[in-house]
Amino acid sequence: MRIANLAGRAVLLTGDGAVDIDKASAGALGPDPQAIFDDWSQARPVLAALEGEPQPCKDSDLRAPVPRPGQIFAIGVNYRDHADESGLDVSTLDWPMTFTKFASCLTGPYATVTLPEGWVDWEAELVVVVGKGGHRILADRAQEHIAGYTIGQDLSERIGQWSGPAPQQFSLGKSHPGFGPTGPAVVTLDELADPGDLAIGCALNGQTMQDGRTGDMIFGVPELIARLSAVAALCPGDLIFTGTPAGIGATRTPPRFLAGADELVSTIEGLGAQRIAFREPDAR
Ligand code: ZN
Repeated sequence: MRIANLAGRAVLLTGDGAVDIDKASAGALGPDPQAIFDDWSQARPVLAALEGEPQPCKDSDLRAPVPRPGQIFAIGVNYRDHADESGLDVSTLDWPMTFTKFASCLTGPYATVTLPEGWVDWEAELVVVVGKGGHRILADRAQEHIAGYTIGQDLSERIGQWSGPAPQQFSLGKSHPGFGPTGPAVVTLDELADPGDLAIGCALNGQTMQDGRTGDMIFGVPELIARLSAVAALCPGDLIFTGTPAGIGATRTPPRFLAGADELVSTIEGLGAQRIAFREPDAR
């Protein structure tokens, strides 16, 4: 299943368009996209049996598929090649480097993001959508807690992110408005050949910047769920940004940061693609 947010209403995307979940379920499931994941154990069997006539769906009407998560976890330096380009020694990394993106930064998969001042960088990421909450979840039971995956961009303003004494301002530097594009849809695991090893990358103005595989994560998704939930209880509808492969702008020679009129396309195998446009604050 591919669950999306079409102009504020929960839909299932099919090859032919979008089926409105509220209408097709005769109100058994409401129109609120967040409620689908907040009540995932109830919603999933209803969705699986849903039949309806697909309606035309414009990409530009798609919004964040999980618009109001209670918690957003995000993981830094979780791919070896990205740790290498960042000059970090991961041999002593015995915990995922965890921060949050505040929920107000979320936006849809075809948004235009107004750039703040500073050095704004890209990070294509696999995002886990939690379907079943829990505390102290075992890694080998983690899959039961996943509703699905979506694409995320962990947009990051590097000057703010790295400012101040440790711990630096990761959560704020990555939470400007529009810094959390997600979507186009939450894809359930049954749609994916091997959810543990998917091609992931992004292209800036048509030029490939990141080209990796989720199988190269230092802490894989089951391990992340175990480690995070060893401390914080996970709740249905939470998001986990799982880190980015090599190829960010800050480590390029010369560095490359986002500017007005740039277009960033992020793709993950089986999850589709999102396309984000950028503009300067004074652009009209
Ligand atoms: Zn990131």
